[in-house]
Amino acid sequence: MTDTADSTARGTGRSRRVVVTLLMCAFLGALTTLATALAAAVFVRIDRAPANIALDGDHVKPFLIGLERPGASRVVWFAKERVYSSYTDRPTPANASSVGVACWSFASGRRGDPATTTEPMKLPERLAEVIEPEPHVAWGGALDRRGFPFLAFEGLIVGAYLDDPRLETDPDSGLPKIFRSEHAFSAREIDRLLDQVGIDAPGPPDRQNLMTERVVPYRPLWGGLVANTLIYGSIWWVLLFGVASTRRALRRRHGRCGSCGYRLSPDLGERCPECGRANHLATPTSPASPARQEGSVMSDAALSGPDGEKLTEPGS
Ligand SMILES: [Zn+2]
Repeated sequence: MTDTADSTARGTGRSRRVVVTLLMCAFLGALTTLATALAAAVFVRIDRAPANIALDGDHVKPFLIGLERPGASRVVWFAKERVYSSYTDRPTPANASSVGVACWSFASGRRGDPATTTEPMKLPERLAEVIEPEPHVAWGGALDRRGFPFLAFEGLIVGAYLDDPRLETDPDSGLPKIFRSEHAFSAREIDRLLDQVGIDAPGPPDRQNLMTERVVPYRPLWGGLVANTLIYGSIWWVLLFGVASTRRALRRRHGRCGSCGYRLSPDLGERCPECGRANHLATPTSPASPARQEGSVMSDAALSGPDGEKLTEPGS
């Protein structure tokens, strides 16, 4: 193999390694993004977040509430009047009125909390889509977002009416559920799985309302999804390859083989006698030792990949 062909093969091998490394880090980064969003959905209790009551309703009139904690955000809108038949023609699930009361008492109970703010807030478009149509298709709803450090997934919880064909039946009670979700799983399924492996999940709330309802949203928020993947991918790169390349550089500086740590010298030939990687101390112009020349054909064959690509030291 000529010098040019050798260095071309080495270059191809190196760029292939870079691509594989980047793909691996991107995959691990995406996996970590998913795992952190899932953990935030299951373990971050959004009903304990400081509340911003942007629209402070009364006993029946609408509320608009924002809740935010690291890894989680929820915007809640509800109007208790929409639960009652005296205000709406739509039939509500049997327990909807008590859930409506629970929403109202959560909101009114937070007014006196010193952490509660009353900043103006825009009703998110996704939430407006279920709140604003006439006739009403929901008595309330929440847009839930999860992800860390950036929010990466969102899903909707909808306070549904009984004639909503998408409203499911609760497998435990056999009764219609109060809420239906869009782009979100129920966190109870995850709780059951965690229970089976002995991890303590927060479990069902004492009072079911639009703040305590726990879901795992899965509609991607692409900006946050890509940003988190880049962040976690970089961390994986440092963990997996930064540490290894630092160790390699330190070994080389101390006259050792970067790959295996064998003590090298210029007269040992082009390759490390221990692992066969390039000997960085060898001078290309100096004649190789006789021992090296004798064994060169065999060791070159042994060191070549199936397509004749030489195994060279990574990062050299
Ligand atoms: Zn070596």
